[in-house]
Amino acid sequence: MTDSYRHKGLRRKLIDTVAGKGIIDKRILEAMAKVPRHYFMDSGFVEFAYKDQAFPIGSGQTISQPYTVAFQTELLNLKKHDKILEVGTGSGYQCVILLELGAKVFTIERHRELYLKSRSLLTQMGYKPYFFYGDGYQGLPNHAPFDKIIITAGAPEIPNELLKQLKIGGRMIVPVGGSNGQLMISVDRIGEDEFEKTEHGAFAFVPMLKGKQ
Ligand code: SAH
Repeated sequence: MTDSYRHKGLRRKLIDTVAGKGIIDKRILEAMAKVPRHYFMDSGFVEFAYKDQAFPIGSGQTISQPYTVAFQTELLNLKKHDKILEVGTGSGYQCVILLELGAKVFTIERHRELYLKSRSLLTQMGYKPYFFYGDGYQGLPNHAPFDKIIITAGAPEIPNELLKQLKIGGRMIVPVGGSNGQLMISVDRIGEDEFEKTEHGAFAFVPMLKGKQ
């Protein structure tokens, strides 16, 4: 894995694109400028790593579009040391951006191959989230509650079990919808049984599926 001046230059341009689409949080843009996105894609596809596009990562899944990663991260409104549950480790890129922002990340993936691949890559890169192979619909009850929950696959509805694993005062970001696209929703847990939902526009994710694969 090499990170050349050319890669760094392409990354700067990508950051300008993402900023131009409305991302204003400098810490997020800096994290994205630092992390070599091409490490998360097969070597033959390096050319595509710095386009603002989603891209296949194997097992029928995709690495999210950089703008989408930035947008979801911005909505999380991260505080340093926030304890976060990420559903859908995928390539591990979103997870690394969260780690760069000082969060403690618990990440779960239902595809065994992707779980193994991202665990090995992130470990090699020196990142230390807590990795889990399992079904994100169940969450991680033994590690709950979480300050924030980020779902990086399209959920048919807001997963109820996960709402229970959110701290009071915490926030979940989840794209909700079917195969025609999803609406980005933030859910703030205001009290034991009190939640406030806000919509943040249309996106297209691979589906959040039940069970392990
Ligand atoms: N955050 C990832 C995005 C990957 S795409 C990245 O930065 O690359 C979404 C991922 O969610 C896929 O890897 C898919 O396998 C996973 N996924 C879908 N349903 C899931 C579930 N129920 N539990 C855990 N992971 C799930």
